[in-house]
Order: sequence, then C-alpha cells, then structure tokens
Amino acid sequence: NRPNNDFQFLDVEREGPAKIHAEVRKREFAEIYEPFKAEEASDQSHRCLECGNPYCSWKCPVHNHIPNWLKLVSEGNILEAAELSHQTNSLPEVCGRVCPQDRLCEGACTLNDGFGAVTIGSVEKYITDTAFAMGWRPDMSKVIRTDRKVAVIGAGPAGLGCADILVRNGVTPVVFDRHPEIGGLLTFGIPEFKLEKDVIKLRRRIFEEMGVEFRLNTEVGKDVTMQQLIEEFDAVFLGMGTYTYMKGGFPGEELDGVFDALPFLISNVNHCMGFEKDPSEYIDMKGRRVVVLGGGDTAMDCNRTSIRQGAASVTCAYRRDEANMPGSRKEVENAREEGVQFLFNRQPVEIVGENGKVVGVKLVTTRMGEPDENGRRRAEVVPGSEQVLEADVVLVAFGFRPSPAPWFADFGIELHQDGRIQAEEAPREQGRFPFQTSNAKVFAGGDMVRGSDLVVTAIAEGRSAAEGILDYLEV
Ligand code: FAD
Ligand code: SF4
Repeated sequence: NRPNNDFQFLDVEREGPAKIHAEVRKREFAEIYEPFKAEEASDQSHRCLECGNPYCSWKCPVHNHIPNWLKLVSEGNILEAAELSHQTNSLPEVCGRVCPQDRLCEGACTLNDGFGAVTIGSVEKYITDTAFAMGWRPDMSKVIRTDRKVAVIGAGPAGLGCADILVRNGVTPVVFDRHPEIGGLLTFGIPEFKLEKDVIKLRRRIFEEMGVEFRLNTEVGKDVTMQQLIEEFDAVFLGMGTYTYMKGGFPGEELDGVFDALPFLISNVNHCMGFEKDPSEYIDMKGRRVVVLGGGDTAMDCNRTSIRQGAASVTCAYRRDEANMPGSRKEVENAREEGVQFLFNRQPVEIVGENGKVVGVKLVTTRMGEPDENGRRRAEVVPGSEQVLEADVVLVAFGFRPSPAPWFADFGIELHQDGRIQAEEAPREQGRFPFQTSNAKVFAGGDMVRGSDLVVTAIAEGRSAAEGILDYLEV
C-alpha cells in the first residue's frame, strides 16, 4: 500500500472500475463493470479526506460509516471493512452496484466540488465481494437465540433488511414471497447488466446460514392467510412493494404491441433464469423498433434490455429535459453508449395503431416552465408541435402506484389516501414503535410505505422496522 499522503486526492484522479466496451456488453446480460483490483480500491479509498463531519454518511440513507471503511480498505484490511460495512447495511454489495450514488453519498462528498468524488459505491461493492470470496461470513457466534418468530411478507430489500436485524438479535424471521427466488425487484425487476443474479443467490445462502428461513412460491392471501400468520407468529412485517402500473391516460394504450415495463423486464428475467413456464410469456424485441416512454430507472432498464434482445432501434421519449430526468446520470450515459436514442422534451399524447396493432407514437414538444409543488419544473406543451414516431412496440415506464392488499382492512391496517400504508419512522405517540401500523402486531416498510423509491431506502426502513419489532417484543 502507498504511504499516507493527505493530498492523494490531488495526485490520484477519481477513477471507477473499468467498463466493458459498449459493443461487447450490449450483446450480453452481464454486469458491465470489471471488479476493482486491490491496488485500485486502495488508491481510490485513500483519496478520502476523512472529513470530521462526513456529509457522505449523512446523505447515505443507511448512514454507512464511509470514511472509516475507506480507511480500512486503503490499509488493506478488507475483513474489518466488511464487518463495519455490515453494521449499517444488510446488502452492501447490492447498494454498491445499484444506488444512484451521484444523488446520495458521492453527490455529498466534499471532493465532488471539482476534484471528483471518492468512488464510494464501487469500494462498497469491492469490500463485500472480496470478503465473501475470502470466505468471510457475518459473525453470529454471540447471538443468543430466543423462541420469538416474526413473519416477513416480501423478500425484497425491505423484508431482507428487516430479517437481517431480527436474526442478529436472536429472533427467527420466516420470509414469505410469491416468487421462486428472493430479492423482490432486485431479482424480478433490475436486470443482470446492473446486478447479476448470482449476487442475490449467494446472499440467500448467507442469510440461510445465519438462520433466516425462506418460504418461496408462497403468496400471502392465497397460499397462506394473514390470519394464520397473525396466530402463528409474534409479529408480522409487511414489505410487499408497489405494483400498480401508472398509465398515460391517452388513447391507444390497449393496442397490441404496448407493454407495461415490469412485465417486460420480468419476462426477460424468467427467460434468462429458466423460470419461464411457457415460452409464449417471453416478450422479444428482436428486430423491432422500440419506443420507451418515461425517464426513470425502469425506463433505462427497458431501453438497455431491448438493445440486448436485438431491437432494430430503441428510442426513449421523456417529457422534461435531460437535467430534470429522474433516472441516474450514470445509467443514462450507459444507455446512450449502448445505442439508445433519447428524445427529450417530448410528451406522448396518443399511441397510434392500425388494425389493432401499434404503428407509432404521437408526441408533442414541451418546454420547461415554472417549478411545480415538488420543486420540479413543469413541462409545458408547445402548440402545433405534434409528430408521429414510427414504432412496432411501445414500453410504458411511468412508474408505480401503491397496490394495497384487499385483506389489509380485515386486520385494521390503515392506509393513506393514495394507498400507502400508514407507518411512521418516529411515531410521536407514547407506546408506539417505529414503522408500526395501526395494528400493533403488524409493522411495514419500503416502497409500500414511502411509495416506489430506492433499494437503499427500503433496506433502511426494513432495518428500522426490525428495531421497532424488537422493542415491541421486548427482546
Ligand atoms: P420489492 O422489491 O418490490 O419487494 C416486494 C416483495 O414482496 C416482492 O418480492 C413481491 O413478490 C413480494 N410480495 C408482494 N405481495 C406478496 C404477497 N401477498 N405474498 C408474498 N409475497 C409478496 N432502486 C435503486 O436503488 N437503484 C436502481 O437501479 C433501481 N432500479 C430499478 C429498476 C426497476 C425496473 C424497478 C421496478 C425498480 C428499481 N429500483 C431501483 C427501485 C427498487 O427496486 C425498489 O425501490 C425496491 O426494490 C423496493 O423494495 P421493497 O422491499 O419495498 O419492495
Ligand atoms: Fe452510497 Fe448507497 Fe452505499 Fe450509502 S448504501 S454509501 S448511498 S452506495
């Protein structure tokens, strides 16, 4: 390792791990970044200024001890770094891969002011990948097991974050999921070029070794009832996500060739992972002109999946400008390199069909107006700007709304008007616990509480809810 050098950030430029060339990666469903080499990880970590009051940790939703583990990596102490990293994060190798770091930790890094932020996400991924490869496993030797059991509904990041804290405190989590594999949207949503499925499979083995029980292919409300869980378990955690697809509300959405984003992405995962029950379920873009509507992470994943399936062309139309796009900057750049065409300031007003099939999308041009109530600038339509973009397939990626289960009301679980579950991080009432719902025995977190958001925020809420459950159970 290099000797200590307080000005390393001047001598060594910010540099992420090498990226596989676009011409190669656009033909495969595999991660696009090479792993850091030990020396690269050490050199990049050493750029950290060790700020006294680190903004990066504050901006990270799980409040990782970032400068501390960067220092350990710069000294080559990977196992200690892994131990420390797991104190605050249940899935650091996942967050290192998929967090929008430019908006979170790296965006808040002091060096982001012209010198180039420390490559925090890539180092976080490096720590856990390397430690696992060295045989490191979370230390459970000091855990005193209790006879308490908690049912966790949903094996997504929120459910896994909750299960992690429970099992480390001697409470047995039994995690139910309707899918055949754990991960929620990590497996059945986010594509392999951002997060390879083997990462989740390895994490499943590790959770099982720690004492987490998974009951997969099991839908609560169908294969097992909530009543059974309430009777059998000491508490229940709901981490079921948000699955109502947002619609554009314009003519033509019912045409043959129009698909919602998630069914398309799931059909691709099932095809790649061998979970497909019937080959006709696979939505294939080979040779087709694809138009993707939307500008978030889901839209970017649809763009890049279509490219890999061999689409003739992929065009992404978004109603605001590039600066106001919700998707991660890094992913937009990757999509562009792989051949996706972007049309900014274009709003769809109709999907055009012939004989019941899609032939194009009618778009109007917009310009950016005053900020709305959320501070984002409105897209205002330019009169007389209609144009039709030819298309064989249209993928609608406008995001998700809550999808509360019909049985919530039977158990007194109250909702907000928009369908999100009512559960607070810091309840003000006496005798209430973090993320407890209006049914004292039921807790909730992740997308179904905050609305569709991020992996790391779901993990953070799952972990906080588990702390609430431990207090409720007086463990
Ligand atoms: P989910 O991940 O949705 O998990 C919920 C789980 O509950 C699912 O497995 C579901 O099967 C299960 N479930 C629901 N109902 C039942 C039931 N009745 N019985 C049994 N099981 C049930 N975030 C990022 O930070 N970075 C990204 O790059 C990113 N990319 C994304 C790409 C796509 C395509 C999508 C859709 C989202 C993306 N997100 C990304 C957002 C992120 O994936 C979610 O915010 C996060 O997964 C939410 O976690 P969760 O645990 O609340 O819900
Ligand atoms: Fe950054 Fe996400 Fe890791 Fe936090 S969890 S340090 S925000 S990459």
